[in-house]
Amino acid sequence: MSKVTFYYGTMNAGKTTLLLQAAFNYREQGLTSIIIKPSIDTRIGNQAVIASRVGLHQECYLVSPEDKISDLLSGLSEKPDIVIVDEVHFLSVPQAIDLLNYSVFAEQAFILYGLRNDYKGQAFPASSVFMANADSLKEVKTICRCGKKATHVVRYFEDGSIDLGHEQIQIGGNERYRSMCRSCHTHSLEKGSIF
Ligand SMILES: [Zn+2]
Repeated sequence: MSKVTFYYGTMNAGKTTLLLQAAFNYREQGLTSIIIKPSIDTRIGNQAVIASRVGLHQECYLVSPEDKISDLLSGLSEKPDIVIVDEVHFLSVPQAIDLLNYSVFAEQAFILYGLRNDYKGQAFPASSVFMANADSLKEVKTICRCGKKATHVVRYFEDGSIDLGHEQIQIGGNERYRSMCRSCHTHSLEKGSIF
């Protein structure tokens, strides 16, 4: 089956927990899954551990920006029933297209997790490819402080002022990001503060 499902959401929506739960569920059914995650450094095919805040963890493959996911998968000794890819917003557009093509040619099912937009409210390039092409789109919901559904994220400094740095997203700094609805996001950018 070549189905590609894209779970998208904002930060801190619990995507990693969902991902590990999905891998666990496949294992319980006697099905095989592998997890792939984009790497920010140049290590290729390295194994790493993916962990969630609720204590689940599993090994995963890291892919660098030059790496083709199709090469990694076709090099495996056994085809997995499902390939789970975390943080797909960090993939390049060619990597996203390679993944989509591979799903068809190898009849490989994928479950993808990632952010839809960055803290400036702009789509991540790979995420927009998946929004446009995935067979199924599922929103991972989280709530804004005002009670509405959060769809956006702001990045801020310790004093609460808005950080509009150049990098699209900083890795490993979840404490400096806050998920908000579009309205609160717009007001925060306008005021230059999360308060
Ligand atoms: Zn709000």
